[in-house]
Amino acid sequence: MSLYRGRFAPSPTGPLHLGSLVAAMASYLDAKAHHGCWLVRIEDVDFDRNLAGADHAILQTLRRCGMDWDEEVVWQSQRSTYYQAALEQLAAHVFACSCSRKEIADSRIRAGLSDSQIYPGTCRSGITNNKVARAFRLRVPDGAAANIEFEDRLLGRQKQNLSTAVGDFVLKRADGFWAYQLAVVVDDALQGFTDIVRGADLLDSSARQIYLQQLLGYPTPRYLHVPVVTNALGEKLSKQTGALGFDLGNNDVLQDALIPAAVFLNLEFSTPPANIADFWSTATVLWANKMGIR
Ligand SMILES: [Zn+2]
Repeated sequence: MSLYRGRFAPSPTGPLHLGSLVAAMASYLDAKAHHGCWLVRIEDVDFDRNLAGADHAILQTLRRCGMDWDEEVVWQSQRSTYYQAALEQLAAHVFACSCSRKEIADSRIRAGLSDSQIYPGTCRSGITNNKVARAFRLRVPDGAAANIEFEDRLLGRQKQNLSTAVGDFVLKRADGFWAYQLAVVVDDALQGFTDIVRGADLLDSSARQIYLQQLLGYPTPRYLHVPVVTNALGEKLSKQTGALGFDLGNNDVLQDALIPAAVFLNLEFSTPPANIADFWSTATVLWANKMGIR
């Protein structure tokens, strides 16, 4: 029995498209190649971005594609108590922040820093002038203590200095929503995932997540980031870039979805798969060979 546990964790902001299918397929194939469990988690903590019904549309499309999950689907919107408990556990490292987006930009300019998203540390030693706490941030260490290194199974050694690359990052947002980084880390640990396989657009989040795992006493899973599908302009496919969803219309799942996604992952079929079941059994072997899994 393999102890491998992996997941696909889509945000329900629209239907599954080729980009999200590639991430789903990579995580599914890696779990199958390891004879492990594969789960689906709906990352719906950002209520402003959720599209009504998109969660069920995504699940329906996964099923149509022949990707079945091994345990009940988890919705992050129902897991607030776990995130609150983690925030309290992190209390010694968390501070309240009253800054608006504009104040953060202005204080960076005043301090002669470049105009980036990095938090300038304004509220680190307390909120001033009777201002109201808006968000909760995690204090990241200064200097070399902020270096996070990890091995990506595809991309190799990765390194990020949280202090210079990210700064004190948000765990609970000014709008009251849980930040992606906290929710993901808590759920990945509580759900016991050994392996995170996802798009390279999330590579930049890994160091923050590993640091949170360390502070919370969680194990760090293995990471594998697959390339992101882009459109002709080099933009990541999303609802905004007009990516076509698979769940509407009469698309042929094998020809229009599964094979293009597999081609993107460089899985080369010597003979075209006859049906969906044939596709998955062959693709799993191809993935195992490509990733050196035995
Ligand atoms: Zn602040």
